[in-house]
Amino acid sequence: MKRPDTSNTRLFNGSVAEVGQIYADLAARPVQRDCLRRGECCQFKLTGLTPYLTKGEAVVAARALRATGRKKVPNETKDACPLLDHASQRCLIYADRPFGCRTHFCAAAGGPMARREVLDLIRRLEAVDAQLGGDGPRKLPAAVAVAWDEIA
Ligand code: SF4
Repeated sequence: MKRPDTSNTRLFNGSVAEVGQIYADLAARPVQRDCLRRGECCQFKLTGLTPYLTKGEAVVAARALRATGRKKVPNETKDACPLLDHASQRCLIYADRPFGCRTHFCAAAGGPMARREVLDLIRRLEAVDAQLGGDGPRKLPAAVAVAWDEIA
């Protein structure tokens, strides 16, 4: 199958808009969440969990990271998310954090959402992934690194 031209800005812009709408639709769900930004779920070694990102989520995250003025993706560590600022222990892209960070990784925020509660939104993320020629969810560090190079 011919892969789409990922330098196509319009394609990226449409995908970013759809992913943003998915995040907004998630926030509008009547499911109680209370993220206190403790950064605990960002400690991958501690939790034993790493979020997986579809390509659209990775593009949104990479663009948000670029908007912070950084010239490269922070070096990956074995312990924590590369998008966690080590000094402040805050997410560098909190407003644009991936779907999994909003739904699955924090007991303090209310625990994982049931898949059935968000399955329609997952399907929409998968559709964006397909539009961008993605091959399904990837672990966050690799997904963001690849998207960073593609949006350059
Ligand atoms: S993207 Fe942000 S919220 Fe998600 S794990 Fe990384 S630092 Fe934490």
